[in-house]
Amino acid sequence: MPRHESVLDAIGRTPLIRLARLGAGLPAPIYLKAEFLNPGMSVKDRAALAMVLAAEESGALRPGGTIVEGTSGNTGIGLAIVAAQRGYRCVVVLPDKTSPDKVAVLRAYGAQVILTPATRPAEHPEQVRNLARGISDRTPGGWLADQYDNPANPHAHVVGTGPEIWQQTQGRITHFVAGIGTGGTISGTGTYLKKVSDGSVRVVGADPRTSVYGGGDGSPYAVEAIGHYVHPETARDVWPLSYDEAVVDRIERIEDRESIEVMHRLAREEGLLVGGSSGTAVAAALRVARDASPDDLVVVIAPDSGRGYLSRYFNEDWLLAMGFRDGDGSGRPAFADR
Ligand code: PMP
Repeated sequence: MPRHESVLDAIGRTPLIRLARLGAGLPAPIYLKAEFLNPGMSVKDRAALAMVLAAEESGALRPGGTIVEGTSGNTGIGLAIVAAQRGYRCVVVLPDKTSPDKVAVLRAYGAQVILTPATRPAEHPEQVRNLARGISDRTPGGWLADQYDNPANPHAHVVGTGPEIWQQTQGRITHFVAGIGTGGTISGTGTYLKKVSDGSVRVVGADPRTSVYGGGDGSPYAVEAIGHYVHPETARDVWPLSYDEAVVDRIERIEDRESIEVMHRLAREEGLLVGGSSGTAVAAALRVARDASPDDLVVVIAPDSGRGYLSRYFNEDWLLAMGFRDGDGSGRPAFADR
């Protein structure tokens, strides 16, 4: 067992866990990369640490400085952990719809939290990213992490997640499946896996059905932290630099209902309490494994823990209000028999 000098050394090197029950009867095995076992309970600890180290290296972040980021949660938690351990201040700007649980976690790590209306248009100075940029500009020693356009984000997966998966599968992986938020995970991991396999590993994106990454119309969906929901005509103007479309061979489009159903099955049949984007990714991985051969091996990323969503995807009142239950009183998902 490893012995660490700080919590930062505990980031990464997450296990692969076989989905023995959900994948039963499918031609190829599916292994889940358990990113919820990172200290901040998400894959974003990796990017947060990598971005801070790169900024220290370049001199953009100096001792006594302030880390600033606009985020919907997990990146902020990762940055708050790194800030606490390395002695920086941390200011996180969040849309006001963010779950109170995540706000409380950030404050517990000592981060300063600023909430701004989620409905502000992209050009408004109080929109999440603009407000974060303004704060970092006005704060002496301020540094904006900027995960959407920061190359250290995908690079964390080129040097971490990708090599880990290759070693853990002894080079047997044939398909890699992940959701797309900033695109850092899929682009960095996919780049490494393609390089090391001479291009043979297939990279499959998992996207909410109406998200524009997979060709949707940009209308809203329930799963948090993945996909892109701007007008399709302007989508490419705001494509994050962290997302390298060329690495992705195809995108599976997944309905909210299917994501939530798979998330519930992961908890109840595999004992894996994961978030909504893990449901989306595993739903896509099940399709991939169904079409695969016995020589194939599928690896899917589970980006975060279900603990952050107890008042949402695991709450009957929320599910009912959102139309994810038939309301027949059985307590079973409306889509369970379909
Ligand atoms: N799932 C969750 C829960 C996340 O917080 C994120 C990060 N936005 C992702 C998936 C997507 O990861 P990435 O930003 O690396 O594309």
